[in-house]
Amino acid sequence: MTAAEKQTLAAFLDTASDYLRDCRARDRPPFPFTDDLMRGGAPPLGRTPLLRKGMLRPTPPSGGEPPATPPGPLPPEVTGPLHDAAAAVEGCRACGLARTRTRSVPGEGIVPPLVLVVGEAPGAEEDASGRPFVGPAGCLLDDMLAAIGLSRLRNCFIANVVKCRPPNNRLPTQDETAACLPFLCRQIAALRPRVILAAGRVAAHNLLGIEETMGRLRGTLYPYRLPPAFAGGAPSTEIPLIATYHPSALLRDPGLKRPAFDDLKFLMAHLASLDPVYRAEAQPLINKYAAKDSRLAPLAE
Ligand code: SF4
Repeated sequence: MTAAEKQTLAAFLDTASDYLRDCRARDRPPFPFTDDLMRGGAPPLGRTPLLRKGMLRPTPPSGGEPPATPPGPLPPEVTGPLHDAAAAVEGCRACGLARTRTRSVPGEGIVPPLVLVVGEAPGAEEDASGRPFVGPAGCLLDDMLAAIGLSRLRNCFIANVVKCRPPNNRLPTQDETAACLPFLCRQIAALRPRVILAAGRVAAHNLLGIEETMGRLRGTLYPYRLPPAFAGGAPSTEIPLIATYHPSALLRDPGLKRPAFDDLKFLMAHLASLDPVYRAEAQPLINKYAAKDSRLAPLAE
């Protein structure tokens, strides 16, 4: 695609996202897209850039409105396991949260994603809509991702460790996370993200098995390995994982925004070293941040 085509598509998708979230249009600076890099005539990377091809949407409640954009074709080896996991989440009653939820929230985004963002559990808005990270924390997450050239509509998939809302937004219990974690493992096995961003302690603890404060967890690139039971018999490859604060924590304590932004730039540097298409598209942002961040300086033009 050309940069102009991408910009047009992104503007349409952003408008659709705003409408689906709360019917309130948001001002966004134009993202500095570039024309696709061609490699021997092949399309750039394997990511799916279109919403209709990539979105895994939650099933609407019976009698409700159908999704605005129906899911399009995706490789069966991806769609099968992903939709199986989403369907299993919809009907799951493996823990007590099934009794109090309005809707389960499997997750949504681009398939396969450059980044899989993993949060804690749905809140009130997510429970009502069946979509992850909507409401104020979701808006902030979208802004955080946009700051480094990422979006759930272009290159990210967003999910939670626990798929149903704990009452009164309490932390999920160990029994609840243990019951629900296999769904996330199934999603990771199908999605094969290039990087996982663990948003908040619950996500980081459950993915890494490390009980530490976020202050100690952040700033490190961890290797995440799928449990063998979910690796389909193949040797489990490592997926890089970066931990940062949950957007809800940033809303409670704005003082955490600066370290969270540092984490995002850390993620940006790693993605730029992994993925030339991301690097080309994010180059203007890299140049902008490089003067104040030594990790990005070598990547700047
Ligand atoms: S939280 Fe997870 S394990 Fe519990 S009922 Fe919902 S989908 Fe099932």
